[in-house]
Amino acid sequence: MRAVVFERYGEPAEVREVADPAPAEHGVVVRVEATGLCRSDWHGWMGHDPDITLPHVPGHELAGVIEAVGARVTGHRPGDRVTVPFVCACGSCPACAAGDQQVCERQTQPGFTHWGSFAQYVALDHAEVNLVPVPPELSFATAASLGCRFATAFRAVVAQGRTAPGEWVAVHGCGGVGLSAVMIAAASGARVVAVDVSPAALDLARKFGAAECVDASAVADPAQAVRELTGGGAHVSLDALGSPGTCAASVNGLRRRGRHVQVGLLPSPTGVTPVPMARVIALELELLGSHGMAAHAYPPLLELVRAGVLRPDLLVTSTIALDATPSALAAMGSAPGAGATVIEPWV
Ligand SMILES: [Zn+2]
Ligand SMILES: [Zn+2]
Repeated sequence: MRAVVFERYGEPAEVREVADPAPAEHGVVVRVEATGLCRSDWHGWMGHDPDITLPHVPGHELAGVIEAVGARVTGHRPGDRVTVPFVCACGSCPACAAGDQQVCERQTQPGFTHWGSFAQYVALDHAEVNLVPVPPELSFATAASLGCRFATAFRAVVAQGRTAPGEWVAVHGCGGVGLSAVMIAAASGARVVAVDVSPAALDLARKFGAAECVDASAVADPAQAVRELTGGGAHVSLDALGSPGTCAASVNGLRRRGRHVQVGLLPSPTGVTPVPMARVIALELELLGSHGMAAHAYPPLLELVRAGVLRPDLLVTSTIALDATPSALAAMGSAPGAGATVIEPWV
């Protein structure tokens, strides 16, 4: 098969022929019809993810058709349309037993712990726990965009943020996951303040339901701007970018007893990010993480997509071939971009 491979961190990846994967006993091989390009892939390529060993094939937001199933898989068969959360769970650890597969103790992640979906085929483990059927009316490109950014945003806004109608939700960073969060929060009945340094990203945020926008490059203190626009601070605030600056701005833009949800990854040389904890104490803020979404939590999301309440398809702003992926991956660092790019490995 053809795949995007890199041998060294930060050096150009290339498209080349590699061996086809085979399914594990409990796993499947999926023919990849669409796979999203995500900032996490860029972090992995830069060497920020300790799970990756070289050479490596990135890609974790995928949808496609089952090509082969392992001997112990009974619930899925070749030809089924499927997608998968980027956290593939083991199905048997205490976290999985509690229904929290998104924080499985023995998780695998395609494109991180093993070769991913910037390829014509990808192997996925523990199919019975992880595969999500894709309804026929949902395109592969749209389904691929659910796997990471949209599902993650959905869990961050609805489950972790506990967003209620009428509340103010601030979204710091309006790339793929941020715009998804804007759309989901607005559909939940919240009033959304979108914050970004890019006017183009803010235009999209407004289109997807943001009531207010803050151009973080044009104000001295984005958190203060959020507090002023929301009459004292947001009830829920997401750092959808993942940087010390946006993390702190998100916490500082909350009202009393507000909830900060960290969605963007925060790699740092020491593994520690400064957080304004004095404000957390004084205002009784909650700090929450959001790490994907378990396969069993997908049906309510898929129902909202089917009903047209949520439109992840509108977030897909470009479609590229495998050959264009190495340069698009490299460009993620300087220009995360507004909206989502989907790769079609068979085009
Ligand atoms: Zn587990
Ligand atoms: Zn992703």
